[in-house]
Amino acid sequence: MSRSKPCFVANWKMHKTIDESDAFIRDLDQLLLESGDIHSRVIIAPPFTAMASIAPSLKWCKTEIGLSAQNVHFEEKGAYTGEISTGMLRDFGCAYVIIGHSERRNLFGESNEEVHQKLQAVRQAGMRPILCIGESLEERQSGLTWSILEKQLSIALGEGDSDDNLCENISEWMIAYEPVWAIGSGLTPTPDEVAGIHQQIQEFIASRFGNNLPPVLYGGSVSEKNIADFMKEVSIGGVLVGGASLAAESFHKIISLGMGAVKSRQSF
Ligand code: PEP
Repeated sequence: MSRSKPCFVANWKMHKTIDESDAFIRDLDQLLLESGDIHSRVIIAPPFTAMASIAPSLKWCKTEIGLSAQNVHFEEKGAYTGEISTGMLRDFGCAYVIIGHSERRNLFGESNEEVHQKLQAVRQAGMRPILCIGESLEERQSGLTWSILEKQLSIALGEGDSDDNLCENISEWMIAYEPVWAIGSGLTPTPDEVAGIHQQIQEFIASRFGNNLPPVLYGGSVSEKNIADFMKEVSIGGVLVGGASLAAESFHKIISLGMGAVKSRQSF
């Protein structure tokens, strides 16, 4: 099991102007400071346009807030209109990159093989991947959940890949289990179901890379109402939050309630 701090990742997707992003960071920093929820790992994945203004303000924040990209291209440079490279992200001091989000896979045709290439690029650049995997509703209803997740993991991590040290520091990554049908739908699996799947993910990684495990996050319609139930589960190392991360107050509430649940499980 991973011993990392509980992680709370905000994926803003295609939301927020520069001013709105700056105001959010100011508010969240203040709220975290007041509530003392500083023993968590809080990461914001803003749109690319807001990165240049957020990055310097994160340095001045009184609490620790990390910066993630929502996507990256696997080439270092070249004729790839509309894309961004790891070097450009590092210019902003961006430490994390979300890779393989289901919206990238389903709306933009990103394959497992491309996810693998992106992981390689991110690792070579010394950044930390937040690798997303998840099954569709149809796959779940056909009893295919684990075989889909296993395939996504196997190809992403490089089956029999010996050409680089891709997974050498896998404990520094995050894996996010995000059932596609739960994203933005208000529906979720039960915390018990998520815990079972997280266990399978951890066993899969342990069987290939030993017990140096990354935190496994849950993502999909996380809210103030359900966060405590998810974070009570020992195998849930944090959450990836979309819609409910767009207001500083609601994202902070999720962090506070989540940290409360982690503390209550530690006192048993
Ligand atoms: C997501 O898109 O990664 C996500 C978890 O979204 P939401 O929280 O809105 O379901």
